[in-house]
Amino acid sequence: MRLQGKVAIVTGAGRGIGRAIAWRFANEGAKVVINYSRSEREASSLAEEIKKHGGEALLVKADVSKAEEVKEMVRKTVERFGKVDILVNNAGVLIPAGFLDSTEDMWDKTLDVNLKGTYLCCKEVAPLMLNQKRGKIINIASVCGLAQRTALGNTPYVVAKAGVIGLTRSLAVNLGPTINVNAIAPGVIDTDMVAFFTPERKNMIVEETPLKRIGRPEEIASAALFLASDESDYITGEVLTVSGGRGMR
Ligand code: NAP
Repeated sequence: MRLQGKVAIVTGAGRGIGRAIAWRFANEGAKVVINYSRSEREASSLAEEIKKHGGEALLVKADVSKAEEVKEMVRKTVERFGKVDILVNNAGVLIPAGFLDSTEDMWDKTLDVNLKGTYLCCKEVAPLMLNQKRGKIINIASVCGLAQRTALGNTPYVVAKAGVIGLTRSLAVNLGPTINVNAIAPGVIDTDMVAFFTPERKNMIVEETPLKRIGRPEEIASAALFLASDESDYITGEVLTVSGGRGMR
């Protein structure tokens, strides 16, 4: 029970990686805020599952790219649980678009959710953590934000995830020594986000990966648990790559 008594907000927790993180945190004793924007059914089922296992969960609908909705999400969290110890900025969208094919709408949507959403959630939660004199922020970036070569074609997404890494490092400086701010850079993980990859593309990725497989959401949850726990107290401003070796630097 490495997160006993902690309160954690996980954005985009109805599906995929966010769901695995929220579930893992709840199983480690955290009270979990399950944020979703569209996947109400999936988010509710996770909350039910957590409650069935004796945990506590609060369901909050909010679009992380909207400041007012983020504010309301954090207000509801404090109203219910009294504090926020851990923030996981996981909500993200991937709209496949190379530079020449990309549109302003694709750019705005990608940057708004992945980067501005992360900024807004940090902005709302950081003052609470500073008051509490402790906090852990974990941002879900991507290996492609670290210039992983095969993903560089997807311009808005690459820029957004590189931005998340820059934001992580800047916040580590701005919010130290009180708050630890780290990022996780997943390689390809088996979720809805990559369901559109062709079998040929998946085979190529597996071939390029030293551990010879695609990752599982639970494997990102394990890294998030480490960064949320006391075991990572002397780590900040880092990017932990979880990619089977494909994103090694
Ligand atoms: P996913 O299955 O497509 O899930 C995306 C999640 O983001 C959903 O829970 C979705 O919630 C949420 N979301 C999207 N827009 C939102 C918004 N405006 N406000 C709040 N939540 C929003 O993808 P995933 O693979 O789990 O991705 C999770 C994170 O990992 C993302 O940041 C992604 O970029 C990153 N990542 C994934 C991979 C991969 O290979 N899968 C690799 C590297 C990085 P709703 O359904 O409720 O809208």
